[in-house]
Amino acid sequence: MPSALLPMRPRVPIAPILSASSFRRGGARADDARLPSVLDAGSARFVTSGRVAIALALREMAAGPGDTVLVPAWHSPSMIPPVLWRGATPVFYRLGPDGAADLDDIAAKAAGAKVLMVTHYFGFHQDLPALRALCDRLGLGLLEDCAHAFIGEHAGRPLGAWGDYAIASSMKFFPIYEGGVLVSRRHDLRSVRLRSAGPAFEAKIALNSLERGFDYGRLPALRAALWLPMALKDALWRLRARPGGAPAPALAPSSSDSSFDFDPRWVDKRSSLFARAMLRLASPGRIAAQRRTNWLRLDAALRGLPGVRPMFDSLPDGVCPWVYPLLADDAPQLAARLSAAGVPVVGFGRPLWQGVDASVCPNAARLSASVLSLPCHQELSAQELDWMIATVSGALRA
Ligand SMILES: *Cc1c(COP(=O)(O)O)cnc(C)c1O
Repeated sequence: MPSALLPMRPRVPIAPILSASSFRRGGARADDARLPSVLDAGSARFVTSGRVAIALALREMAAGPGDTVLVPAWHSPSMIPPVLWRGATPVFYRLGPDGAADLDDIAAKAAGAKVLMVTHYFGFHQDLPALRALCDRLGLGLLEDCAHAFIGEHAGRPLGAWGDYAIASSMKFFPIYEGGVLVSRRHDLRSVRLRSAGPAFEAKIALNSLERGFDYGRLPALRAALWLPMALKDALWRLRARPGGAPAPALAPSSSDSSFDFDPRWVDKRSSLFARAMLRLASPGRIAAQRRTNWLRLDAALRGLPGVRPMFDSLPDGVCPWVYPLLADDAPQLAARLSAAGVPVVGFGRPLWQGVDASVCPNAARLSASVLSLPCHQELSAQELDWMIATVSGALRA
């Protein structure tokens, strides 16, 4: 049995959880040596998810009924409901085999379009100078979707600085339970007014983030200090679930629980104090360095294994990866095997929005069917990476 040779199965966190590895150490700004983040791209508004930031960006660009919004044929299902919320119509444009936006197809579909949304898949940037020039020529607003690219730069500018607006998803990069950012370098964001979602929301977000850190054993000393507030929180939660009564209103958006739903009630809500404090304390340079190291380690070990192919040939300077994507010959079977073994498999771009298939874009259909990803975030330990690599290799050689 090959499994007998593997080290003991750890519980590997699928996304960043709270520990020391995201933060600046002793004020050492050298940590930031130095990849910029979208927060360096322009002025910012902090909301509760990336999809809410998309909705606000579309509202700022006055996209509405009668307008089309150009959306990549390979997408997160969470990108579409904000377009529909505005009353606009999504039109899907083609991508190259590696996810590069097809400029000719965009130009062909530009009549009646107001906004072009482009996604920097997995942290790897699109051809921003060419897209900026195309949008200027066609009179399109450019919305940079930096959901996978909170940190990173291209041609001397932070990602997010090329678009009229950019959005990012804080939960994908930082150990927090909610958060999205709307950024603009070209436009004033003063008209975007946000309100607090209230003290219960603030408390829930802080405690959930801590609790997740405890769950994975990352914060033992703090845990001892906080057992009383955590017990109180549990008791309060039980009280809120009034038996037989009306369901209590949600204290956090469903976007925090891997749902693709869009709830317009969160559009005007400010991100929690806890999440905003974390973003301020975190070190983009340190997070990027750790993610790049983990990505390269996975790449060195998994490149060349049978049945899979890395999505990217290399890791260019300026890229801070979200995850490590592989194209698998039989992605559903491999994902099932890995999940059964306890490997956290990150899904993206499956299912596609209704009606988007190979007739719209063959490459999007192929990417959607074959890409699966492994985490490379800053909280992974060397043992966890080794175990993931051994388990993935075992599953592919079996
Ligand atoms: C996750 C994601 C979003 C939405 O971000 P949330 O914070 O989950 O709302 C938008 N675009 C892409 C490409 C994503 O992967």
